[in-house]
Amino acid sequence: MRILLDEDKCVGAGQCVLAAGEVFDQRDEDGIVVLLDGHPDEARRGEVETAAQLCPGQAIEVRTD
Ligand code: SF4
Repeated sequence: MRILLDEDKCVGAGQCVLAAGEVFDQRDEDGIVVLLDGHPDEARRGEVETAAQLCPGQAIEVRTD
């Protein structure tokens, strides 16, 4: 599993951090998303998919490769 982020779409809502705090964080300055783990373990797929669905900016893309 691979995560792609589009920072330009991020509105700093923090839903991704709430859903998958081991994978996503936010910059202190402006709340824009920071990717902590671009290749998370398959065990985290559920929370990562949830984060992508909840993201209001549709900034998170989950790839299976
Ligand atoms: S949920 Fe989306 S918009 Fe909100 S901080 Fe995460 S990536 Fe950015």
